[in-house]
Amino acid sequence: MKKLVNDVSGVVPDMLEGLALTHPEIALLDGQTVAVRADVADFRRSGRVAVVSGGGSGHEPAHAGYVGRGMLTAAVCGDVFTSPSTDAVLETIRTVAGPTGVLLIVKNYTGDRLNFGLAAELARAEGIPVEVVVVADDVALDTGEGTAGRRGIAGTVFVHKVAGAAAEAGLPLAEVRREAEAAAAAVGSMGVGLSACTVPAAGRPGFELGPDEVELGLGIHGEAGVRRTAVAPADVVVDTLLDRITADLALAPGERVTLLVNNLGGTPLMELQIVARRAVRRLTEQGFRLERAWTGSFLTALEMAGCSLSVLRVDDRLLERLDAPVSAPAWPAAHLGRVRPEPLRVPGTPAPGGVPAAGSRPAAAAAAGGPPPRRVLERVVEEVCAALVAAEPELTMMDQAVGDGDLGISLARGAEAVRREFPGYGEDPAAVLRALSATLRRALGGTSGPLYAVLLLRAAAVLEEAGGVPAARDWARALAEGARAVSELGRAEVGDRTMLDALVPAADAMRQALDGGAEPCGALSAAVEAARKGTAATAAMTPRRGRSSYLGERAVGRVDPGAEAVAIWLEVVSRTVCEGN
Ligand code: ADP
Ligand code: MG
Repeated sequence: MKKLVNDVSGVVPDMLEGLALTHPEIALLDGQTVAVRADVADFRRSGRVAVVSGGGSGHEPAHAGYVGRGMLTAAVCGDVFTSPSTDAVLETIRTVAGPTGVLLIVKNYTGDRLNFGLAAELARAEGIPVEVVVVADDVALDTGEGTAGRRGIAGTVFVHKVAGAAAEAGLPLAEVRREAEAAAAAVGSMGVGLSACTVPAAGRPGFELGPDEVELGLGIHGEAGVRRTAVAPADVVVDTLLDRITADLALAPGERVTLLVNNLGGTPLMELQIVARRAVRRLTEQGFRLERAWTGSFLTALEMAGCSLSVLRVDDRLLERLDAPVSAPAWPAAHLGRVRPEPLRVPGTPAPGGVPAAGSRPAAAAAAGGPPPRRVLERVVEEVCAALVAAEPELTMMDQAVGDGDLGISLARGAEAVRREFPGYGEDPAAVLRALSATLRRALGGTSGPLYAVLLLRAAAVLEEAGGVPAARDWARALAEGARAVSELGRAEVGDRTMLDALVPAADAMRQALDGGAEPCGALSAAVEAARKGTAATAAMTPRRGRSSYLGERAVGRVDPGAEAVAIWLEVVSRTVCEGN
């Protein structure tokens, strides 16, 4: 087990100390694993109802992160995934209770119901007014009579917020309880798990999920869900979760709702936003009025990958509670939950003059006789694209070894974009190269994107300058100048272990062959051979540019993927142009 913990039995107190050290407005109840407002003494005299929640730990930032003005007065933290003791809850109640009493918000698990319930009973016997609200928002399981009932999951955070705001507004206990109950009845949640999590004291994951499996509707401790299914696109998963929730809530079009997109712990924010995107669209498409939405880690299950969605049916009163200010660190105070039905898109500024006009010099091509260059170019481009798409796995592996593994994907993406856009590229070779440059600049990305863009742009300028139908010599100069442009932009030289180690020898060899009287196809095969040799030589070089330079000597022994890519396309160019020669 690889975790940043000390003694596994001390994870909860250690965590709470960290929280209290970095949030001076939160204090620890001496001798207990309980977080409480630091101004609890003043609070008790304020006449406001105290709101207490808690449960097992491992759901951070729940519940201690919600301690603050406008939310929880205290959070009782059990061991990881373990309900806190009755006595811990009871002592917390005694600590926070003023004359107006205490509301306990409990997630529907047997242990929590028993410990919080018994503590409430004991406190009442001591004369403290206590009410309990149980949250059972998980709509994944159909649970009838005689079962433990539905679980409480992330929708509980909405209940914390509503109850905390109602208490802060000065409402009496019965009213705070009523609002909390209304919120609990109006919220539905469902989760999907992509991986398991490891309880520190157990040291092993609680369950196993195959590499292509997800668990729909699992609980926040990794308890089984509705079913295991194959991984599906995010949109499909979101629709499954949301449709179940909205059906369960019997939401009708036109009803007002808020949304909580909750990280189960191990999901990158990128994926959460992808989920949020679909959830907002789906709710809106189905005619619900999405009033607010929040995305983030609200109630987690350690490092479990996956997320849950919670939908709350709201009215003006509930919205007012959700909008009310809080000082609890885990409620996103700066983000008011506002949503819009479509992302705002501001127009970009197009290049002056737009794309160079198509077919700038078709007459010259016709006059020169032979196959119109555009037809040859089209074949060459198509073949190069096919070769780069086919080389994706190989280039990916090579870039994984010495870089970050994106080169194959980037070049394949660039090739696909070129295939799509080629029909609009215009007629003469310079125009085609210029358009290629524009496509790649946009579609390729990474380091290769700008480098290929500048290579093609400079090559286009060389051909344009030469005018007419370019001869082999013009192409050789275009390649050489293109390589020079790459060197200038990337500040790399031959020997630095980059694509230049293929490009520069190829351009040199082509020129030399032509100087020596070689036919164009002879010169092209000389270029290919030089590119191959230059690429092979990179295996002995210590990288000085690009991502591989971070590896230093460790890259030695492997060929530079960018150089390999050059050798691949140059070979295809030569083969296609010289077919039949
Ligand atoms: P990144 O992962 O940095 O975005 P890519 O995966 O797109 O880069 O491309 C990696 C290749 O780019 C390398 O194998 C190398 O051939 C080439 N490269 C990296 N840095 C330079 C540079 N400064 N000049 C020329 N080529 C470079
Ligand atoms: Mg890379």
